[in-house]
Amino acid sequence: MTLLVMKFGGSSVADAEAMRRVAQRVVATHRAGNQVAVVVSAMGDTTDELLDLAGQISPGPPPERELDMLLSAGERISMALLAMAIEQHGVPAKSFTGAQAGMRTDTAHGRARLLDVQPERVRATLDAGGVAIVAGFQGISTDDDITTLGRGGSDTTAVALAAALDADVCEIYTDVDGLYTADPRIVPTARRVTRLTIEETLEMAAHGAKILHLRAVEYARRFHVPLHVRSSFSDKEGTWILVGRPLTEDTMEEPIISGIAHDKSLGKVTAVGIPDRPGAAAAVVGAVARAGVSIDMIVQNVSTSDAHTSDISFTIPDTDGQTAVAAVRALQDEMGFADVLYTSHVGKLSLVGAGMRSNPSVASDLFAALAGAGVNIEMISTSEIRISVICDQSDLEDAVRAVHTAFELDAEEDAVVYGGTGR
Ligand code: ADP
Ligand code: ASP
Ligand code: MG
Repeated sequence: MTLLVMKFGGSSVADAEAMRRVAQRVVATHRAGNQVAVVVSAMGDTTDELLDLAGQISPGPPPERELDMLLSAGERISMALLAMAIEQHGVPAKSFTGAQAGMRTDTAHGRARLLDVQPERVRATLDAGGVAIVAGFQGISTDDDITTLGRGGSDTTAVALAAALDADVCEIYTDVDGLYTADPRIVPTARRVTRLTIEETLEMAAHGAKILHLRAVEYARRFHVPLHVRSSFSDKEGTWILVGRPLTEDTMEEPIISGIAHDKSLGKVTAVGIPDRPGAAAAVVGAVARAGVSIDMIVQNVSTSDAHTSDISFTIPDTDGQTAVAAVRALQDEMGFADVLYTSHVGKLSLVGAGMRSNPSVASDLFAALAGAGVNIEMISTSEIRISVICDQSDLEDAVRAVHTAFELDAEEDAVVYGGTGR
């Protein structure tokens, strides 16, 4: 018997009608002879609305423990309503919070990491012939407090549950027909990708393609969980993401570029005029890391003002801008550098593809496409299967479209975006 984990995102369960449609799909899958565990997100934009509400109550950052308690309620609403909708069809269904489903996490509220997954009650429900529904995005900490896994975290719940149940596949149902060569909300001519390696998917998720939570992809890689990303609004086959897929003749023919990810959530810090000596970069980057801010790209070059000093620039999540600037400023007197600058709203475009390993012209073609679109490149970083550039955020969407066309990724038909607000 096949065991499936089906995960439905917020736009797939946005209202009662959507909930009934999802229930029908789950029931049909169950009646076809499969064991089905479901993971649900909060309805529509509920999580954002709860965050707004918390903001109206607390002028500053709300207490983390209480914020997690609040946000976890969004998924609880979905799980109970979906269980009711499934029961309507005469199929037994039981909903479970993250805690009841055995999702044990660390104590980092708002960005908790899963430490252990023991879904005994879920398994018992499946073994008894029922459907189990688990609230996504949440767990219970080692201190027995409710935690959340970070925005988009229901994907991670689903993959972790699939790994713990040894499921045959984890299906991620969303509001587009799969993973596309670019976000179809920005590039209507984006093309659906039929299969993607886990490494390419990791690069896409790590660099802004929010269709999959990065940690879900990392988890899938570690535990070899096959992923199928598809639409809950259509029956179309989506995108398969498989770990350790053997290299066959047809995989060798795969395109050079598999997609373009973009990220609008970054800011850039520059420390200007740092005396050029060993240890300078370590001091600056170390201070930022100790402040708990993760750095994305780093560039160091000789200062334009003085040949004996250098400038170090790095990108960080825009939400961590103040923290990072304060950490660098604290070093200013001791290290004797001239200034600390901050630019918020920088944009990042990343071109991803396993085929670029053996294709030396990809970088020059990318830079030529950006030049043709009048986009100025501020920073560049590369991995074996990715090239990323930082540019002004106001140029980003045009840049993505220009690069998409330049690499001949445009499809003849426009992609369908079935729902969601893209919020
Ligand atoms: P869900 O609520 O189902 O979790 P998300 O909003 O988190 O859905 O993710 C789906 C959205 O991801 C799509 O509507 C699309 O705008 C966006 N997206 C970004 N990059 C891509 C991509 N490369 N392919 C498909 N969708 C993408
Ligand atoms: N509801 C949460 C969010 O909006 C988790 C998720 O949907 O994956 O971020
Ligand atoms: Mg999501």
